Amino acid sequence: MKRNQPIEPHRIKSIEPIKLLNRHEREAKIKDAHFNIFKLDAEDIYIDLLTDSGTTAMSAKQWGALMMGDESYAGARSFRHFEKVVQEIFVKEFVIPCHQGRSAENLMFSTVVKPGQYVLNNTHFDTTRGNTLHCGGVPIDLPSSAVELLDAEAFKGNMDVDKLEQFISEHGPESIAMVIMTVTNNSVGGQPVSMANIKEVSEVCHRHGLLFFFDAARFAENCYFIKRDEAGYAGKSIEEIAKEMFSYADGAMMSAKKDGMANIGGLIALNDKQLFDKVTELMIVIEGFCTYGGLAGRDLEVLSVGLKEVLDFDYLHYRIGQVAYLGAEIQKAGIPIVMPTGGHAVFIDAGRLLPHIPSEQFPGQTLAVEFYREGGVRVVEIGSLMFGGVDPNTGQEFKAPHELVRLAMPRRVYTNSHYDYIAEVVARIVARKEKLTGYSITREPRLLRHFTCDLEPVKKVSMTV
Ligand SMILES: *Cc1c(COP(=O)(O)O)cnc(C)c1O
Repeated sequence: MKRNQPIEPHRIKSIEPIKLLNRHEREAKIKDAHFNIFKLDAEDIYIDLLTDSGTTAMSAKQWGALMMGDESYAGARSFRHFEKVVQEIFVKEFVIPCHQGRSAENLMFSTVVKPGQYVLNNTHFDTTRGNTLHCGGVPIDLPSSAVELLDAEAFKGNMDVDKLEQFISEHGPESIAMVIMTVTNNSVGGQPVSMANIKEVSEVCHRHGLLFFFDAARFAENCYFIKRDEAGYAGKSIEEIAKEMFSYADGAMMSAKKDGMANIGGLIALNDKQLFDKVTELMIVIEGFCTYGGLAGRDLEVLSVGLKEVLDFDYLHYRIGQVAYLGAEIQKAGIPIVMPTGGHAVFIDAGRLLPHIPSEQFPGQTLAVEFYREGGVRVVEIGSLMFGGVDPNTGQEFKAPHELVRLAMPRRVYTNSHYDYIAEVVARIVARKEKLTGYSITREPRLLRHFTCDLEPVKKVSMTV
């Protein structure tokens, strides 16, 4: 065993076989998928690092709890369990179960956002942005300035408090529907937010009478970073840190498919009775009765256990250690990654790795396809394919800020040997990186093209660009 390998604080009780197709089969599959990794069948993938959302392996305790689900339509015992756990951790009185994060967003924004109002965020996640727009709101990102991709600085997920103050004084508090802090900051590489930053933002919001919420999908991972890296928190438990963090906000929305340690689920927690009444009124029309919110009783039981398990320091230490371990192994192969490694994924800087492939030919997608061809591994491009292109309504052209590839790590699913294998695959790809060529789009939908577009390899590297 290598000395820096994080040891799993659990043993395996139930397994699921995976199979590596041979090279010929992989070549055929990726060609049939028109070089779009979203179009591969999951069965044809050896190691799937597409996302950490809803891909968690449940514990024996969670599988046991599943059998205890009370499926009563109203007032189920399972809801009371869930409500109590959420009330404790989030320090909020009212708990609204939702079937996933984006339904929590829809319920909240439909209730508080008036058309034309701003929603401020350290960085909007894409569904948060989508739901803000859907409700007529204007999403504004205020990430901390001078965030350099490859600089290993702590708390790169922070919100820029000066920009927040400036925005409020320029536009007036009445133009702002709410302020959201996303922990960890998914869109900037799963980077954490410091308690000091949370406190400052909370103070500014409350001074101006603004509603302040968390987007809490990875709240426990964020608390781990606070304990590890922020002065004054080393001696506190993850649960104590979570309670302090949530105490600064009026409420939280959460996709429980991440730190809920479950395959489905979400929630809203808040203290304002009037707001709770408004949200539940809408919820009964579009989601379900307020004691199940689109989930089964068994899902609520699983979440009650998962939300406790995620606070376990040993689990988080192993989890964040595994991300750092994979990052370090990839760096050893001479590959630039976003630093420091964050909470749920390693991000490779494909633009820097493949400088001979111009962004119009998608260096990130080139690398993602190569992961599958070389090793049966699925990863996702976060660059010009995902964020570039032309707005079909306005004709405006978008440019992606970076050409990244994300290796998202499902919770408790893969072991260190799987990650050693991934590092080997990357090293083999890098050994022939000069020979890699880009891709062009042959069929493109109007919106969110990366999910469904078709691609083909560019035959020769263009010398004229
Ligand atoms: C995943 C995620 C969401 C959306 O949640 P879903 O459960 O996928 O609907 C919202 N915000 C953040 C930060 C997320 O990571």
